[in-house]
Amino acid sequence: MAANTPQYDYAFAGTGAAAAITYSILNKHNPHSSFLLVDKQNRPARHAAAFWHTSNATPLPALHTWDRYAVVDSSGQRHIKQLNRFAYSMHWSDEMISQLLKGVSVVHARVESADATQVISAGQSWNARHVFDSRWKRSGFCQLFSGRHLKLERPHSIHEPVLMDFTLPVRDNVVLGYQLPVASDEILIEVVSFGAVADIDGILDSYIASQGLTGSTLLHERGLTPLRLFRHQPGRIGISGTVVRASNGYGLPYFLRDAQLIAAGKRYYRPLLYNLSDLILLNMVKRHPVRAHKLLNRLVSRLSGDDLIAFLDETMSVSALPRFVSAMSPVAMLRYTAVNLLQIFNEYKKQTGDSADT
Ligand SMILES: Cc1cc2nc3c(=O)[nH]c(=O)nc-3n(C[C@H](O)[C@H](O)[C@H](O)COP(=O)(O)OP(=O)(O)OC[C@H]3O[C@@H](n4cnc5c(N)ncnc54)[C@H](O)[C@@H]3O)c2cc1C
Repeated sequence: MAANTPQYDYAFAGTGAAAAITYSILNKHNPHSSFLLVDKQNRPARHAAAFWHTSNATPLPALHTWDRYAVVDSSGQRHIKQLNRFAYSMHWSDEMISQLLKGVSVVHARVESADATQVISAGQSWNARHVFDSRWKRSGFCQLFSGRHLKLERPHSIHEPVLMDFTLPVRDNVVLGYQLPVASDEILIEVVSFGAVADIDGILDSYIASQGLTGSTLLHERGLTPLRLFRHQPGRIGISGTVVRASNGYGLPYFLRDAQLIAAGKRYYRPLLYNLSDLILLNMVKRHPVRAHKLLNRLVSRLSGDDLIAFLDETMSVSALPRFVSAMSPVAMLRYTAVNLLQIFNEYKKQTGDSADT
């Protein structure tokens, strides 16, 4: 065989969530294709993998699916948001990945380099018609997660996920609380910060205490996701392809959309409105966290469930735009944007200058 003859149709450098989703969609579309999957870890990491989707079918394996969620505003008031057009689901990431990769073996090796048609690991090289690279390194501005999966001493009375709890104090960063009721006596309780905070685990533990929850920890999930402006990079998927959105840190719904487009031979062009809103929000979160916290609180508490998810999903209809704008305090937003134009422009230059390195 000539040295550069493709051995595989598709090769994946890194086999986390994005690769597993892309693999499963491509395999469904091209069942006779050959696949190579390589990962440096011998098993995927476990953390909560939550995602939204249109309500008629769950596109990924799910453990729970909810048709509503709650938001707790900064005064402690709980808003229940019914979902009609969308649903919200979760699984554990390792179990989801295993289900998506059922029957495929993953080569356990550290990839040293990958380009459009070749993957190289210690002393070995594999050629493929298409290579998808999802290796990534921490860079720039990050979203941090710390969560505990708790086995409670007593059953809880939480019926729907709390997607955002704004009662956590804003210090140098916006920190939000989340809760997913995963069984009658189990809960995943998590805090998420936009930007580094000194003691995210301490914040988590005081948040747990403030909710009156006591129990044993089944899992302590921690990690980070770099937040950059969406800039599609050919051949790169997942975090490495800048597919996780700066506005919310979610990845899975976008990986799924990307994978469907890849399978159809197309690519996603992100509407300017969303790039712009991420840019303004990122600048605000970094430099004016108190303002960002207030804006997010107002927006998320006032919008209907479907409108908020449609915005996050980047499928908001033109008819929903006035509802979105009026929930946001448009005058304050316009004033903020005008006054901080230079900062926002500098943020743009910094963000687009960041490389999705490996
Ligand atoms: C605690 C936590 C909770 C989260 N919760 C959610 C959530 O609920 N919903 C959501 O949408 N997003 C969530 N996220 C964001 C999440 O990071 C992404 O959705 C998703 O895991 C990213 O997928 P990925 O494939 O891009 O990266 P990863 O899942 O990190 O996969 C990258 C893979 O590449 C492998 N790799 C790296 N370097 C090499 C190398 N040199 N050679 C071979 N392999 C390599 C790694 O081992 C890894 O398996 C969460 C993140 C964290 C940390």
